[in-house]
Amino acid sequence: MTFKEFNFKNTLNQAIENAGFKEPSPIQKEAIPIILKGYDMIAQAQTGTGKTAAFGLPIIEMMSGDSGIETLVIVPTRELAMQVSDELFRFGKTAGLKTATVYGGTAYNRQIDRIKDANIIVATPGRLLDLLKSNKIKLNPKFVVLDEADEMLDMGFVDEIKKIFKYLPKDRQTLMFSATMPKQIKMLAQEILNSPKSVTVTKSERTNSDITQKFYVVSDYERDDALLRLIDYKNPTKSIIFCRTKKEVDRLSSYMTSQGFKVAGLHGDMEQKQRERTIKAFKEGLVDIFIATDVAARGLDVHDVSHVFNYHIPFDSESYVHRIGRTGRAGNKGEAITLVSPNELRTIKRIEKDVGAKMLSRVIPTRQEVQHRKDTNLLNQIAKTKITPSAIELVKELQHDIDIVTIAHLLASMVQKEVSVKGKEKIGLNREEIERLIKRSKYQKGRGRNRDSRRHRERRDRKSRKRRDSF
Ligand code: ADP
Ligand code: MG
Repeated sequence: MTFKEFNFKNTLNQAIENAGFKEPSPIQKEAIPIILKGYDMIAQAQTGTGKTAAFGLPIIEMMSGDSGIETLVIVPTRELAMQVSDELFRFGKTAGLKTATVYGGTAYNRQIDRIKDANIIVATPGRLLDLLKSNKIKLNPKFVVLDEADEMLDMGFVDEIKKIFKYLPKDRQTLMFSATMPKQIKMLAQEILNSPKSVTVTKSERTNSDITQKFYVVSDYERDDALLRLIDYKNPTKSIIFCRTKKEVDRLSSYMTSQGFKVAGLHGDMEQKQRERTIKAFKEGLVDIFIATDVAARGLDVHDVSHVFNYHIPFDSESYVHRIGRTGRAGNKGEAITLVSPNELRTIKRIEKDVGAKMLSRVIPTRQEVQHRKDTNLLNQIAKTKITPSAIELVKELQHDIDIVTIAHLLASMVQKEVSVKGKEKIGLNREEIERLIKRSKYQKGRGRNRDSRRHRERRDRKSRKRRDSF
């Protein structure tokens, strides 16, 4: 199926073509016809599956383009506000639609001027509610979207959302999007939606199949070594390493910098300007590796992230889904790698069950194995290199004092130094050890020692929510 079948206006079809979109994603196929018919909707689909266009395209199609704000999109974070606004702008600009963002941390006046001019606004809840409460803006949108609703919940925005909706007209079309569907989200939906249609992309499509998921069992003290070895081996183009706390982010950032990697830390405490600069550097390739906390990397959309590393396994399945969704975006392949200690194997099983996907267990390659791979690459690279005139000059120069074989040895030593693999020969558990552990954890389960009872789960969820709030 192509986008043509939605019979959008020419201006919109043009914008879709310019964006390079060929085929609608599953959530787009299902959601767009429903939205075009005017229904309220609640939709669940994995991150990176194109939810923005799923609501953006049909809304832009239906907008009159007359003056005034016709569409309000509410998102949890400033980064997302900018990202969603950029995406909507590129689809709306051919129809002359203007978008504006509204979020905290910047001057009111400039934002208000832009809002007055806009047809679509993308806002975070806090600032939006401020503006509405203080009567600085009045809104009468026909279309209202609540994007990434589960993240709003996690960040404690539900009360603000409810208050915002008190300021909105009853006569409107409301859409809600979420990657996961906890109970509180369904309850919120009942409150703000009007006889909604619901759309869920099936389980097998829920975890993006372009992402390979692997885990490695290591002892706690081996995490740094394991991480460096895997980066050495996988050679990621761009990657994100997730940590549990900002302290861990800071420590790992300095360590990796000292090891010669181009890294940047990203956590919730950073100033807005600094975060924007950091994200830009990552997008432009000045930084290869992001080291981030969950909250800081919410919704981050960078196309060519080849690997996501979980330095620790996340507390809950929802975080896991959000984290690995930073790779495998826009049809690219991605790999998600999780380091676990032996006593965390149970968590792996639970996450697999919750997200309906399999994580493969792997053994960390030895130093020798990585060295062998790098040497092979180096040989290929040397064979493919073109000889330059200045290189010929250089060798001529050297030949005055040194014989040609020695020159070759010297040059080879120079390039080899750059690909030499550091660290211990063996890191982490081997195949037999991992299998023994897996068997043992199954055995325990059979004896009724599985602590994942409902009560335990609830306690765990409460605890993890609390901990995350403090980051
Ligand atoms: P989600 O909100 O579900 O996490 P996004 O809306 O951020 O996903 O989309 C992820 C990326 O995929 C974006 O860069 C977007 O431009 C791209 N994308 C969305 N739909 C399509 C499509 N049909 N074809 C190609 N790329 C798409
Ligand atoms: Mg989104």
